[in-house]
Parts: sequence; C-alpha cells; structure tokens
Amino acid sequence: TIRVRYAPSPTGHLHIGNARTALFNYLFARHNKGKLILRIEDTDTKRNIAGGEKSQIDMLHWLGIDWDEGPDVGGDYGPYRQSERKDIYLPIIQKLIDAGYAYESYKTEDELEKEREAQKARGEMPHYVYEYADMSETEKAQAIAAAKAKGLTPVIRFRVPTDKSYQWNDIVKGKINIEGKTIGGDFVIQKRDGMPTYNFAVVVDDHMMKITHVLRGDDHIANTPKQLMIYEALGWEPPKFGHMTLIINSATGKKLSKRDESVLQFIEQYRELGYLPDAMFNFITLLGWSPVGEDEIFTRKQFIKQFDPKRLSKSPAAFDQKKLEWINNQYVKKANPSLLTDLSLDNLIEAGRIDKKPDVKMIEWVRQLVALFADQMSYTQQIVPLSDIFFIEPPELDQDAIDELKNDTAPTVLNEFKQRIAALDIFSANRIQNVIYDIQHETGIRGRKLYMPIRIATTREMHGPQLAESIELLGIDKVMHHLNQTLE
Ligand code: GLU
Repeated sequence: TIRVRYAPSPTGHLHIGNARTALFNYLFARHNKGKLILRIEDTDTKRNIAGGEKSQIDMLHWLGIDWDEGPDVGGDYGPYRQSERKDIYLPIIQKLIDAGYAYESYKTEDELEKEREAQKARGEMPHYVYEYADMSETEKAQAIAAAKAKGLTPVIRFRVPTDKSYQWNDIVKGKINIEGKTIGGDFVIQKRDGMPTYNFAVVVDDHMMKITHVLRGDDHIANTPKQLMIYEALGWEPPKFGHMTLIINSATGKKLSKRDESVLQFIEQYRELGYLPDAMFNFITLLGWSPVGEDEIFTRKQFIKQFDPKRLSKSPAAFDQKKLEWINNQYVKKANPSLLTDLSLDNLIEAGRIDKKPDVKMIEWVRQLVALFADQMSYTQQIVPLSDIFFIEPPELDQDAIDELKNDTAPTVLNEFKQRIAALDIFSANRIQNVIYDIQHETGIRGRKLYMPIRIATTREMHGPQLAESIELLGIDKVMHHLNQTLE
C-alpha cells in the first residue's frame, strides 16, 4: 500500500505552503486508499516554538485533513515525534561510524566560521574541508584523543562520496542528477547536543515508517542527494520523490516569502477572518495542481477521486488574490446560513459591534443581515465594513447623491414614503416593498426616480443590497432619523 507522510517542524504556525504539502499528501493517500502519516520533525530544538505542534494540528483539522497515524492518533510505527526517537537513531549512527560512512568531527564552530570566511574571500562556495586529510590512522586517532582530552564534543559527519552522482526520477520534475562533489562537503548527521539532524532522521523515519512516496516542497531538492547517500550506506531502498514548485505571489511575481505582507500566509489568519475551510481546501488544491477540464470548484470527494500527482505543475504556482476571493465567494454564497451566522456573530462581537452574548432577536437580525450580504462576501469578517450603515452614523452625502435628490419628483417620493412607513404596523421588507409599489401606482413615478431617493434617504448610500430588506434591518428609528436628516 501507498504510505505518505506530512512532516512539519513545529517552528511556527501552519503556513500556506506547508498546508499545500499536507493537502497533496492527503489527496494522494486518499486517492490511492493508502495511509497518511503525520510526523513531527522537532529535532532542531532551538527553532521549536511552544504550541507549534498543537497549532499546526488544529489548522490541519480545520482544513479537514485527517491522518491514519501520528502523535495524536498512534499507529504501529511510532513514536511519531522525532525527539522521542533518539533510541532508534543513535545505534544506526554508530553503525555508520563503525562501517566508515561517518566519523566524529571536532572542528569548533569558530574554526568552521573562519574556514567559510576564508573560502568566501577566495570566491569559493563555503564548504567543509575534511579535517583528517593527509593523516594516517594513527595520527587521526591521536587528533581525536587530543580533542577529547580538551573536553570538546564532536558532531558526527557523513562522508560524502564526491566521485559519485545521485539521480532520481522526480514525480514532479522528471530526471534530476546531482553530483556528490557539489553538495558542500561531509555533512552533519548528529549535532553536538546529541540530536540527529533532519537529513539523517528523515531517512531513518521514512524507511522505518515504510513511506513509499515523499511529496514535499522543492526547497528540499538539495537535501535529496544527501538522503540518497544515507539510504545507500544503510542498504535501504529509497522512496519515490516528488518536489513541488514554489508558490509565487502573482501580484509581484516574487516567491511568496514570509515577509511579503500583501498576502496572508498563515491558515490561522484565514480562519480568524471567517474564511470557510472547504473553500480554502479548494483554493490551496489549485496551487500547483490542476484538474482535467476548466472547472475550478470541486468537493473534497471529487478532488480525492481526481487527484493525480502527474498533474502537479512544473512551473511555479501563482498565488492569485482575486482567485482566492472568487473561490471563497462561491462557497459563501452556498454556505449553510447558520454557519455563516455563527461566524459573522464572532466577527461582529470581535469588532465591538454587538454584545458578547447576543440575544435571540439579535441573532435573528444578524442572520438576515448575512443573507442580505452573502453574495458580496468572500469571508464573514467582511460583514463588519459591509454593515457600517447599521452601526455608525453615516457620513455626509456626497455630491452625486445630493444631485440625485435635486430631482423634481424626489420630495414627493420621500414625503409619501415617510408618511406611509410611519403608519405601518409591521415593519417588514414585504410591507416596505408594498409601500414602494403603492407610491409607484399612485404617483406614476418609477424606476431610478423612485428607488434612488428612497435608497439615499434611508441608507444614505447610492448602492447597496436589496432595498426593502436593508430598510427593514435598519429599523424604523434609524430610517426615520435618516429621512428627517435628508428632508431638512
Ligand atoms: N520537516 C521538514 C519541513 O518542515 C519536512 C521535510 C520533508 O518532508 O522531508 O520542511
């Protein structure tokens, strides 16, 4: 069976690029009735942040991604946190040392830094230079003994076969070939603190967890030859690799970097704004993957059915803000009204617009408000600016609106409207609409000449959603107040 994994490092919140990796692995697993494994890669202890793992898991769940094995659900190949797997790694490192594939390296951080500086000054790419070159076995043993006597702790380095090259047939990019001599010299597989490095742990885990396919971002391409060397040294069969292209911001044409503030990059931010998870799932799936045909809106089931990694794009995926809004709007328009109401209530409370504990009447009012504006929304937080007229004293009318009201028939329309709605016993959209029809019948004024003055005078704006509904939601008091302001 196909076994894939998503392997986040808990160094921050779930980034959109990582969410995409998780999602493609999820789709690949589900499409093939295989297994998805969640593995936490937390060996770089300095970079881990408190709550990072939980926050990532929460956001994956929010997106509707689930997995078959992981630190939270268990499984036969655990533990699923690398920091808990030291007992597994260390004997394998020892085996590599014993077989001559790896060795203790005592160069200090200072020495390494000086070495790199000198290389840069000579115009060379910084690389590690083998510290026991030209030494006999005895001399090497003496050097190590001397370093130990000084109390130095070593790192363990993997001996890179510089005369070999490493190739694989990448699921996304096709044939890739990297020469051993280009990768920067013997690399560290165990740090001074005794923790294995990513490149080592990932090989051991992928092997022991029986991973068949590794789908990850193409920022890992340079790591793949290092991992292939370790597979070779251990006599293990490597999995198939696929490296997904980076994401670029289509507005700037540049790689989407965490510093780019024009785009929200963390899934949590989308959730807080009231984006819908299914819509985000849909949007992210189209970042670097394309279905057959022109359609862009699919259910999760359809995505699972269709997912074929051969359709992962070779060119960078464009993060297009307009498409994000469009897709999300498609989902908001057909979303369950009570879901939208719940999310909007949170947004309105957050904005200080309504009480922390809204009563039944308010909840019903928000439900109607959301129904009125849903077509215009991509996420529910937009209800806050969209509903300004219901909460804050409207600004002065602008010149266009004033000009509209100069129309001869406007005073008749407004006076009629005011009298008739004041007399309504039920202030509902239906009744209000009937009032407008009645005025049309009795005065013969119709179309823009009828609606525009009423819209401007009641909502104080020239554009908005359905008029009668908006007036109902404003309530009789606000409407009268606005009408009087206008008629003054
Ligand atoms: N922990 C690595 C990361 O966060 C995963 C790399 C891999 O999938 O091999 O980028």
